[in-house]
Amino acid sequence: MGLGFGAGLILSFIMTLYAGYAFYNLVKCPACGGRLNRFKNGKRVPKKQAFKQLEAGNRCRHCGWGPTVGG
Ligand SMILES: [Zn+2]
Repeated sequence: MGLGFGAGLILSFIMTLYAGYAFYNLVKCPACGGRLNRFKNGKRVPKKQAFKQLEAGNRCRHCGWGPTVGG
């Protein structure tokens, strides 16, 4: 009783953690390998801001590479 519910909660908790981890550690610049959702000092970019930047196709803050620049 309630086991499925509890497991679902734990699973969604893990997924949230993993999504956060992936968002900040696995979204990398193809040119320099810099993490796009982190500032140069390694701090996390707030998700709202990060999404806006990704949407706008902003250049990599580490090396200046940008998807709209073609290089
Ligand atoms: Zn880069």
